[in-house]
This record gives sequence, C-alpha cells and structure tokens, in this order.
Amino acid sequence: MDWKVPLADVQLGVEEERAVLGVLRSGWLTMGAVTQAFEEEICAFTGTKHAFAVNNATAALHLACLALGLGPGDEVIAPSLTFVATANAIKYTGAKVVFADIESEDWLCICPEAIKAAITEKTKAIMVMHYAGYACDMPEILRIAKEHNLSVIEDAAHAIGASLDGKALGTWGDIGCYSFFGNKNMTTAEGGMLVTDNDDLAAKVKILRSHGMTSLTWDRHQGHASSYDVVALGYNYRIDEIRSAIGREQLKKLPGANARRKEIIQRYRTILASKAAGLGLPFGAERGESSYHIFPVLLPENVNRAKFREILKQDGVQTSFHYPPVHQFEIYRDSTVNANELLWMTEHVASRQVTLPLFPQMSEDQQDLVISSVVKALEEAGS
Ligand SMILES: *Cc1c(COP(=O)(O)O)cnc(C)c1O
Repeated sequence: MDWKVPLADVQLGVEEERAVLGVLRSGWLTMGAVTQAFEEEICAFTGTKHAFAVNNATAALHLACLALGLGPGDEVIAPSLTFVATANAIKYTGAKVVFADIESEDWLCICPEAIKAAITEKTKAIMVMHYAGYACDMPEILRIAKEHNLSVIEDAAHAIGASLDGKALGTWGDIGCYSFFGNKNMTTAEGGMLVTDNDDLAAKVKILRSHGMTSLTWDRHQGHASSYDVVALGYNYRIDEIRSAIGREQLKKLPGANARRKEIIQRYRTILASKAAGLGLPFGAERGESSYHIFPVLLPENVNRAKFREILKQDGVQTSFHYPPVHQFEIYRDSTVNANELLWMTEHVASRQVTLPLFPQMSEDQQDLVISSVVKALEEAGS
C-alpha cells in the first residue's frame, strides 16, 4: 500500500550510513568495541549500572526471566494488554503467566490492585509493560513486590527515553528491557537492551547471553583470555557491531525525536478533544514523562472498528491496534480463569482501541488528514 500517512516511519540518515560503513571497514563485525560503547551510552542515558545489548527485546526479557531463576512451578504476573513477547518470555522458562487487568480506560497499564489480587504462594515475579511509554504505577508496584518478596521486570520496549519522578522507566525494577525493533522510538533494525543495577543479575545475564561461556571471542581477540569454560545453558542472544553502530546514532537523535512525538500528540489531543466527540483519549493525566511511542484512541461503543479503520484506509491513513489481548490467544487460553471478570477492563478497552499514525517527521498536513478522516469515520461507522 502507498499510504498518505503511514502508521510509523523510521528516521535514518547519513549519520547511520557513515556509522555502518565505519564498522564494515573496521574488520570487526560482532559484539566488540562499538557494542561496548553503545552499552556504556545506554547506561549513562538511563542512569543504570549495567547494560547488555542483545539481538532483540524478546531475548532480553527471556534473559531477565532466566537470571531471576524463574522456571516450572513459578507464577509471574503480567498484563494481557501487551505484545505477546511479554508473556512468551515468561513461558519459555516453564513458569506460568498469570494475567492481571489494566488500571482504567484512561491509563492502559497493569493495575496494582489487580496484581495484589493475583498473588499466590507460587508467585515469584511481576512483569510490567509501560504501554506507549507511559509509566506503570511503579512506586505502588515496587511496594507490593517488596511486601511479597517478588522480583520486578520492566518490559520497557516502548519506553526508551521515558521517566517517572525523573528516574528512567526500565530502571525501577530489578531488570528493564528496551526494544530497538524497526518500529520503535529508536531502532537498530532488530535489537534490544537489558539494564540492571544488580551486579549478581548482571553477571548471570552476561554469561547466558553468549552460550554460557566464561569469555567472549572479543576478550580472546584482545588477549584478555585464551580459553573458556561453559558454566550454564546459555543462548546466542548477541548483537553485532553494525546494529550497535546504528543504535549509537539513533540514541543521539532520540531526545529530539521523542520531544517531537510529544508535540504531535499534544496537537492531536487538543484538536480531537474539540472535533471528535465521544472519542476516548487515554493518558490525559500527569504521570512522569512518556516516550510517546504510539497514539492510542478508544472508539465510542457504537462505532464499528473494522468499518472505522476501513474508512481511514480509503483515505490513505494507516492504523493499527495495540493489542489483541494475549489471554485470548490459543496458547494462553488455559492460563486464564474467569477472564470476563478478572480482565474486564482489558477486554473492554481492547475491543475499541485504535492506534493512529505517529512519527517524528509527520507533517501538519498529514496530521490534519488523519484528524479529518477520524471525524468523518466516527460519523459513518457509528450506528
Ligand atoms: C516490540 C515489543 C517487544 C519485543 O521486542 P523485539 O525487539 O521485537 O523482540 C516486547 N514487548 C513489547 C511491549 C513490544 O512492543
């Protein structure tokens, strides 16, 4: 499709091109000095002690679960209104995912009260997801975790550059995971980053990321080690120097790009609030600084979503929805008892949610086209 307004768009320039060429010409292509520099820059940017670049955020989440020792017989509480990778990372370890509802129609993050209600003797951890880069209620969630001796993992795939009370999202819990997939706020094509302040967890992650080996090819190349032992069943979750080089350039552009996303969202909110009666605009409250990853809206109950999206499509406007609730997928159906009641808000929101186009270089004309198309579609797709 040739969209007039795509859902998202990447911003790659000569800086990334130069960085990639630099790596190709350097003769060292996989995890080495460039990756190390990228990790150090993420540490500085997020204010955290350890960062591990990996080949995607799903791998980071899996490593987080493994480092925390999750496995069969354990339960992990997570939202259902998220990308399926959040839950899959838990399931890879053999632990059971226990879904908890979101706060409200106005804040689509996991609800602390619902977390509390889902805790059993088997609960070992909570995995939160900062929807669209808006903060979960971390002070309250950490309080609950402490009271019940639970670990906290942050799926911060949407949230690079976001913060709460001045502290970066992804650095509140035991481990945080960022995604640099092609449609995220900063990208390395495929890529992710795990951050933690905990030295023990960091040591585990470092070994599990690379086959459970005690030294890396890079260490041996530098003459720091000549052999290795294998001390855990690890994985190959490494990133390469080409992606890390792109990531370093993208990180420099991130604050400006996120600020631009914020301006676009503010303009959307102001105009839609006056022109699109009945359209729900979540995340209106003040709570930290988002990364403004996506712009979700909620259709009034009388509007047919498929019809609404089709009208926007006819106008050349691409939309999406975030997300089909994970508990409704076939492989998670057995994880859920009484979803109608326990995940009522998740289902109520998910059936009406639409994501409108948002990217830093979006023009005012493009935004105006989205808005006029939304106003028209609300009338035409309503009953
Ligand atoms: C994108 C995303 C992931 C997975 O990221 P990858 O880097 O593609 O593995 C996980 N969780 C959420 C909420 C995401 O949006």
